[in-house]
Amino acid sequence: MIQTENAMTSALLETAEKSVLFTANRPNIVMERGKGMYLWDTDDNRYLDFVGGWAVASLGHSPEALQEALSRQAATLVHASPGYYNRPMLEFAELLTSLSGMDKVFFGSSGAEANESAIKLARKHGAVNLNGAFEIITLANSFHGRSLATMSATGKPHWKELFSPKVDGFKHVPINDLDAIFAAVTNQTCAIMIELVQGEGGVHSVDEAYLYGIRKICDMYGIMLIFDEVQTGLGRTGKLFAYEHYGIKPDVMTLGKGIGAGFPLSAMLAKSKYDLFEPGDQGGTYTGAPLAMAAGYAVLTELLERNVTDNAKTQGNYIMSKLEQLSGEFPITNIRGKGLLLAFDTPAGAAAELAAICLREGLLINALNPSTVRLVPPLIVSQQDSDAMLGILRKAWGQLSSS
Ligand SMILES: *Cc1c(COP(=O)(O)O)cnc(C)c1O
Repeated sequence: MIQTENAMTSALLETAEKSVLFTANRPNIVMERGKGMYLWDTDDNRYLDFVGGWAVASLGHSPEALQEALSRQAATLVHASPGYYNRPMLEFAELLTSLSGMDKVFFGSSGAEANESAIKLARKHGAVNLNGAFEIITLANSFHGRSLATMSATGKPHWKELFSPKVDGFKHVPINDLDAIFAAVTNQTCAIMIELVQGEGGVHSVDEAYLYGIRKICDMYGIMLIFDEVQTGLGRTGKLFAYEHYGIKPDVMTLGKGIGAGFPLSAMLAKSKYDLFEPGDQGGTYTGAPLAMAAGYAVLTELLERNVTDNAKTQGNYIMSKLEQLSGEFPITNIRGKGLLLAFDTPAGAAAELAAICLREGLLINALNPSTVRLVPPLIVSQQDSDAMLGILRKAWGQLSSS
């Protein structure tokens, strides 16, 4: 299964080294096409994709519904100007607000942009309603994006000193510790911002009682509660939105990743009472652009029609139970997650090696850190795909030098 050395691929990889700014360690393969659960590289090696375009390809790769919507809209109107309404924008805004239980929406192109909007809206709320309160409480090990403000909101320990000085006004507290939230809240607090299942931070869920407590604190002091559902939203966790697992609603919710199924798109949704921006406060050249709106509308309609949310739940449970079985044979521990946002721990350092062996065997999995593997496949994954994944995983464990 080891990839063949092909002249075109070698030339492309030389270009990669020569011309692409280094930001990530990538394997020596070049992806070329995709369909459903699979990606193919330039050597025509096929990969079963349990990284799912980084929790993005909710409908699988290059889904027909998205292809059709994009070509139809491209032939009608690609871009109008952020200075005008356009028809797909209004149609998608109506659909998304009605499904999400939120009232108003601002569209962006990335999760970071949606979260940046939420941070600005929280500060506006502080300025208008809370005597200038500006502090936002977020969680240790959270991930909210890579803009400077969202990096400041993020609770990755090794990001603390990176790109200093950071944006001021963020307090990080440990997850599932309500006392720590109480201790952090002051009259300067304007918002609490959390992921319900921390995706990049290791797939850790907040507890129900904890979230209930946070909602109560926010209601008591008029603090805005923001759920970052960039990774958990749109069916990923086996509910359309992760907050449905808890029956607790946010004031503001951000969406990204799966919302465009691969087309760059994000959204910040808010309750009406937080419709606080004035002209000039927030915007963006591509906000609500027709092509992205048509993509979002088609993706959301297709997600609902194909009932991928229930499939995420069923397949998530199936994979979890099979991983539990595997843990009798291999050192797999702490199998966790919701729906198709899953992770397990390996002995220290084994995760990356396991992912590398799987890649050679035609399976993409994500080593979140040296001892954690995350599985975030497209939500259309079938039981047959899950069995194929588990088969390769089992084979890879057998080849692992440290096992
Ligand atoms: C991926 C992610 C983001 C950032 O989204 P980008 O599109 O990469 O900017 C923010 N929050 C969460 C929870 C994420 O998983």
